[in-house]
Amino acid sequence: MNEHDSERLAGIMVEDGLVPAVSESDADVIIFNTCTIRENADLKLYSALGHLKAVKERRPDLQIAVGGCMAQKDRGEILERAAWVDVVFGTHNIAAAPGLLARARSEGPVVEVFDAPDPEANRDMAPALYAVRELAFAAWITIQTGCDNTCAYCIVPSVRGGEISRPLDDLVAEARMLAASGVTEVTVLGQNVNSYGRDITGRRTLFAELLRALGEVEGIERIRFTSPHPKDLRPETIAAMAETTAVCPQLHLPLQSGSNRVLSSMRRGYSAERYLERLARARAEIDDLAVTTDLIVGFPGESDDEFDETLAVVAACEYDSAYTFIFSPREGTRGATMTDQFVASDVIKERFERLKEVLDRSALAKHAAREGRREEVLVEGPSKRNGAMLSGRTRQGKLIHFGDVGETLRPGSLAMVDVTHGAPYHLLGTVASTVRGPRHKVRIPLLSS
Ligand code: SF4
Repeated sequence: MNEHDSERLAGIMVEDGLVPAVSESDADVIIFNTCTIRENADLKLYSALGHLKAVKERRPDLQIAVGGCMAQKDRGEILERAAWVDVVFGTHNIAAAPGLLARARSEGPVVEVFDAPDPEANRDMAPALYAVRELAFAAWITIQTGCDNTCAYCIVPSVRGGEISRPLDDLVAEARMLAASGVTEVTVLGQNVNSYGRDITGRRTLFAELLRALGEVEGIERIRFTSPHPKDLRPETIAAMAETTAVCPQLHLPLQSGSNRVLSSMRRGYSAERYLERLARARAEIDDLAVTTDLIVGFPGESDDEFDETLAVVAACEYDSAYTFIFSPREGTRGATMTDQFVASDVIKERFERLKEVLDRSALAKHAAREGRREEVLVEGPSKRNGAMLSGRTRQGKLIHFGDVGETLRPGSLAMVDVTHGAPYHLLGTVASTVRGPRHKVRIPLLSS
């Protein structure tokens, strides 16, 4: 969500007449779009702002703005700690950034943080078309903002507010516009995508309808989504995934812990058994499904036995990959108040390593099992590991590096690639054939002599 907000913020600034700077010293405006999910984000922001103090003294016309979740949380405190900041804005008024920067030029420092989206005052729910995207052929579509859950470790509800869904028709229209501009892959984005629409209709199956409706949009060949909440993963969603050709066989289902006591303390709303049941159903109905997850190590009170329960559930789930996090107390959450139950850092470190071993084992097995298969790959560009190779994503969302074998596959092309090797975090392969070239237009810079 934060990355997509950054894309939209960049798009809004470009629309206002700015051009991307090649370096920090070249910039007239520097905006930090902050995230508060983990504690070190706070430290990183204030350290980066500290570094800019001398720069601002040398170049008083430089404008510095701080937006995002930390600005939403800290508001005026940011100016108290870094008086050389010009603008502070929150998660609900991203689109106001150009106006706030203009105001600050005449009035001095401005802090404007809304507690809820103000549709009249900004375009926060505006189409992804405003975004400056890293990949021209792949886009995120935000379908909802905020979250109505109260997970004990999570700061999102307090900085993003309650769930607000965008109308289904607007989302389909946005997907059509994206497809017309050459986008072929969309990732549907929300804090809890499968509760999408409940705030506008009270119906429980709207996310499934949305997936089916997006699947009808001509030109959109791949649909992904993140993240569904295990407690809300309904049979209708699984059926929509299975029956909609464009929806990729990839499910990111955050487990967080495999211990029922810890899950209850986290206020997750499901048990390990319920999670396994829903995952088994998804795997049974969706052909060749890749499954990924999120896990937190060292939630307050997590005992050795409870961590072993997590290891057992993780092993049973046979994940393709996982994001693992060390518990980070976030001020304002219930987890942060459980100080008497905090787990010692050396214990967490040891648990983290054991978890990684189990996850790497299943990832390697999943990837090795794909050796010899022919996969449809959306080409992203030259490999960051080896410039002589290309990188792309399979329909399961797996990163694959492959040789081009004489064909010049441009980013956005679709190719069939034979998998030759499966490593824990990627695949290797060789191109078998080209399916099609890119659909998006590429701007060629005009050079003057
Ligand atoms: S579902 Fe839980 S973890 Fe996810 S955003 Fe909402 S409160 Fe946070």
